[in-house]
Amino acid sequence: MQERLKELQTEALEKISQTSDLKELNDIRVSYLGKKGPITEVLKGMGKLSAEERPKMGALANEVRDAIAAGIEEKQKHLEEAAVQEKLALEKIDVTLPGRPIKTGNHHPLTRIIEEIEDLFIGMGYTVAEGPEVEKDYYNFEALNLPKGHPARDMQDSFYITEEILLRTHTSPVQARTMEKHEGKGPVKIICPGKVYRRDNDDATHSHQFMQIEGLVVDENIRMTDLKGTLEVFAKKMFGEDREIRLRPSFFPFTEPSVEMDISCKICSGKGCSVCKGTGWIEILGAGMVHPNVLEMAGFDSKKYTGFAFGMGPERIAMLKYGVDDIRHFYTNDVRFLKQFSIHE
Ligand SMILES: [Zn+2]
Repeated sequence: MQERLKELQTEALEKISQTSDLKELNDIRVSYLGKKGPITEVLKGMGKLSAEERPKMGALANEVRDAIAAGIEEKQKHLEEAAVQEKLALEKIDVTLPGRPIKTGNHHPLTRIIEEIEDLFIGMGYTVAEGPEVEKDYYNFEALNLPKGHPARDMQDSFYITEEILLRTHTSPVQARTMEKHEGKGPVKIICPGKVYRRDNDDATHSHQFMQIEGLVVDENIRMTDLKGTLEVFAKKMFGEDREIRLRPSFFPFTEPSVEMDISCKICSGKGCSVCKGTGWIEILGAGMVHPNVLEMAGFDSKKYTGFAFGMGPERIAMLKYGVDDIRHFYTNDVRFLKQFSIHE
């Protein structure tokens, strides 16, 4: 009986040492220490023993039970600790790994051009004026010397909303509105950037919606030379000090006389190349002296006041400055295109 008990102890401890699973360990506990286990079975034979031997055998059985229980407890602690370590290892965060880069945006190239032009003119004493994109026919056309039925209205195919309301075809209505607010008193010195709309088919150089920046100066004794000087400063600051400008006669209903301004081609320095179509010059903007009718309609005395105005397309300026060949790039917003204008990378 004694031997059988020792055997059971060795057998159980052996099994305990071999297991590496908590559930299996629990099974061992149940099978050896449970009421139906082999130790209980052995002790059933105690009745055959002498009164002297019985307590000894009982003590030995308890020793065996304690040894197995202790073995199980130790193994359990060991296994539980290992499980915790394993879990920790799995959940460990490697703080030395490089982080995921955060994508930063940047200013749209047109925003940059507009801000650059604004800054340039603010430096010359202009203020920025804005107006509605959904505009009255009166401010978009009539107040600018384009009465109903005027043939020059056809130069600007328009999106009409009602007979009297349309999407503005240029930023000039902001000029008319600003002059009106001045109630016949100068000086007026503004720059008006904004979106404009025309019924154009989109292609490499046209878009149904595009940007304009216009400038207007109204005061006593404003002359054509003031316009030319202003445009020259603009051209040199925007495209380089070595640029030259020239003014060609043109026609706009709201200015008289009207001109178009060219700058000398940077690529060929005036010799003629494909960019300037062999002329040595590149057209940049339209300008002129404010038509007396426009001044009078806005409440200014055209005998006392004169003024000049100019208007340009930021897209065209950006295309020339950055060498972009298709106006649609500015509106399709392909990130690969826009990233090229980032100042961060
Ligand atoms: Zn050229």
